[in-house]
Amino acid sequence: MQRTALISGISGQDGSYLAELLTSKGYHVVGILRRSTHYHHPNIAHLYGKIQLEYGDVLDEANLTQIIRECQPDEIYHLAAQSVPADSWRQPLVTAEITALGTLRMLEAARLEAPHARFYQATSREIFGGVAQEVCDEETPTIANNPYGIAKVFAHQMMQTYRESYGMFACGGILFNHESPRRSLHFVTRKITMAAACIALGVSDPPLNELGEPLIQDRRLQLGNLDAVRDWGYAREYVDAMWRMLQCAEPRDFVIATNQCHTVRELCRIAFAAVDLDWQNHVVVDERFLRPTEINAARGDYSAAKAALGWQPETSFEDLIQMMVEADIQLLRKRK
Ligand code: NDP
Ligand code: GDP
Repeated sequence: MQRTALISGISGQDGSYLAELLTSKGYHVVGILRRSTHYHHPNIAHLYGKIQLEYGDVLDEANLTQIIRECQPDEIYHLAAQSVPADSWRQPLVTAEITALGTLRMLEAARLEAPHARFYQATSREIFGGVAQEVCDEETPTIANNPYGIAKVFAHQMMQTYRESYGMFACGGILFNHESPRRSLHFVTRKITMAAACIALGVSDPPLNELGEPLIQDRRLQLGNLDAVRDWGYAREYVDAMWRMLQCAEPRDFVIATNQCHTVRELCRIAFAAVDLDWQNHVVVDERFLRPTEINAARGDYSAAKAALGWQPETSFEDLIQMMVEADIQLLRKRK
């Protein structure tokens, strides 16, 4: 019988890749879209007609309950969130409402209407933001140090509590940063790949950055901490890990990562070199993009996922960034 998967946050980066993966596996995919006056969902436009879309908002529990009651999913992938850590200082309450309490509303709606559905929670490596150790795994204690990370700790522990209290098949994917051409411009990878593409093509009307200003001015990109370090992987591969987690015999949480770290500086070098430019001529540090706290540099040890799920990252950091620059060039050419 055809299985039904419900995805919250379907219009986002991960939701769109996951919807592609699940439709290719024969699932009936139902996606929750939040209402907006615009109808522009570029990440899923190619899936219109192949997936069912329902308007819903994780701020509205009655709404979620009704969607789950009607579609009776076998699997629920809860990806919706205010997902931008940098924005969470400016909007801590919105972040808590959506990212923390939104998860609780989804769990409660699932418990009431589809208690046998398997539930995936999009946990983040930010739950280890204040941890000093260099490598994190499933046993690392959760010490978050920004409003987003704290909201994700709440959501993760609430999911674990529903698993233990009600016997629900619920798991948390503790995902380290993962990127793609569908990444929002609020994140540093896409900001840099789009800027490199705009400068290479001489674009005069670049998209806006996270402060609502032109992304590049006088062929220069403004960034924050160039020494910041992340473990960056490819989003298309990470959604496969989400699906594998829900196929296990028992619910369990897994770290998904590459176990390799790179600096923002290195990212700049690779992205600008992809269009034969020297990043040092085009990147300036602007204090407005520095954060009140940084998460500590850490890599994710994915060996448990490798052993139990047969999952491992395939795409190198360099290939990922080059792919993103190339995609941004194609996008800008099409726009012209
Ligand atoms: P995106 O920001 O691309 O997608 C977030 C999605 O949530 C969007 O579809 C957004 O809708 C939706 N959303 C936001 N608020 C609401 C709301 N109130 N009601 C319903 N939907 C809402 O994130 P990603 O795809 O990158 O990430 C997916 C999940 O994984 C998120 O929970 C994120 O926090 C988590 N995560 C991501 C990591 C990463 O590196 N990408 C790392 C670890 C965890 P809209 O399009 O309308 O804005
Ligand atoms: P995050 O790990 O989910 O917060 O992903 P981001 O891509 O937003 O940030 C990754 C790292 O890049 C952080 O340590 C930031 O401090 C650093 N960074 C440096 N400059 C910028 C910038 O201009 N924008 C963003 N978003 N991050 C930046």
